[in-house]
Amino acid sequence: MSQPASFPVPAGESSAPVLRLKRGEERRLAAGHLWVFSNEVDTERTPLAQFAPGALVELRSYREAFLGYAYVNPHALICARILSRAAAQPVAVPLLEQRLAAALALRERLGNARYGRWVFGESDLLPGLVLDRYGDLVVGQIATAGMEALKDEIATAVRRVLGPQALFWKNDSAARALEHLPQLTEVAFGAHAAEVEVIEAGLEFRAPLATGQKTGWYYDQSANRARLARYVPAGARVLDVCSYAGAWAVTALHHGARLARCVDSSQAALEFARANAARNGRTVETLHADAFDALKMLAAEGAQFDVVILDPPAFIKRKKDIPQGHAAYRKLNQLALALLADPGLLVSCSCSYHLGADELLHAIQSAARHGARFVQVLESGGQSPDHPLHPAIPETRYLKAFFCRVTRAVG
Ligand code: SAH
Repeated sequence: MSQPASFPVPAGESSAPVLRLKRGEERRLAAGHLWVFSNEVDTERTPLAQFAPGALVELRSYREAFLGYAYVNPHALICARILSRAAAQPVAVPLLEQRLAAALALRERLGNARYGRWVFGESDLLPGLVLDRYGDLVVGQIATAGMEALKDEIATAVRRVLGPQALFWKNDSAARALEHLPQLTEVAFGAHAAEVEVIEAGLEFRAPLATGQKTGWYYDQSANRARLARYVPAGARVLDVCSYAGAWAVTALHHGARLARCVDSSQAALEFARANAARNGRTVETLHADAFDALKMLAAEGAQFDVVILDPPAFIKRKKDIPQGHAAYRKLNQLALALLADPGLLVSCSCSYHLGADELLHAIQSAARHGARFVQVLESGGQSPDHPLHPAIPETRYLKAFFCRVTRAVG
């Protein structure tokens, strides 16, 4: 599957196949975007079907201007993504090394680079690639055929730039089907690990690797978890809904909460949550259930909490899920509000790209009106800075977290 490591430059003399756009279709790319949609290609002159999935091309405008080097997937709606805009810098190991080194330098400036996201796809100009660091282990996820074709070159660049003990490909995301890629996990180099270890804000955690979620840990929430310190009242009772391995609950206990309950539909995740609490000298109670059922059950029991954290999976994965998704966010927030003491803190998150921050706020507010609660948003957060936003690519901004003070409505 590997592509040739280099092809001739400069542009115009390149023997790499050319992909031409239709007239005017280079505008979004000029604004900084990296994607080409299949309807933007001049398929009369450069039929997409001639390219193998993952093939490298030279991208040109209708008028033959060099736009960059990209990889192609004729089967995908996003049929090409730019990797390099420099005619003298084709796609090969040196380019990947340069990108990885730049991404690493940024994370080192942010601190805690050993435990965090090293590469966040498009935002680090490596479309389709995610790399997360777990100490000496790097876990990667590839979303596109183009990156898949560069897998060996990426492994080489990872060795050269960081030299971790192991690189593990956790290519099990369902989204790979969009690129006609199979779901496959494998060791690129080093030993196979069953679990990942994380140090976050001085706390120690473990999470499952091969059977875990994402690359094993939700580093995108680290910055929001750090915000919790300010808002957890001493002795608080905390409910961590969709807790996974208990990151929020353990953080809350560390900041003075007295009691924490984790709710998740995965028994394995809850076992990690219990072990993670113990690892940090704490305990959590666990409730293995669907979040909606659990919240209803707790309300029926008359349970009350000072802090409720809602960190559900993306209810809106595609545009067609939007109507049910909105209803699900509203319902979940409504159930959470009913369990809050007066005053209470609601931390309401969404990782659905298709649910904007304003829409999540609307869901919270309509839940509050329905439940006769008064909500004051104290702070809002997005994804941690090791998941930077690419301003030209809205899809790189997906996580929202609102920290809300909740009281019984007056008047
Ligand atoms: N809060 C976690 C990340 C949560 S990811 C952290 O900060 O690390 C979403 C979690 O929701 C997963 O652990 C998944 O098992 C769980 N989940 C998915 N659907 C659920 C449902 N219907 N009810 C309860 N938990 C659910």
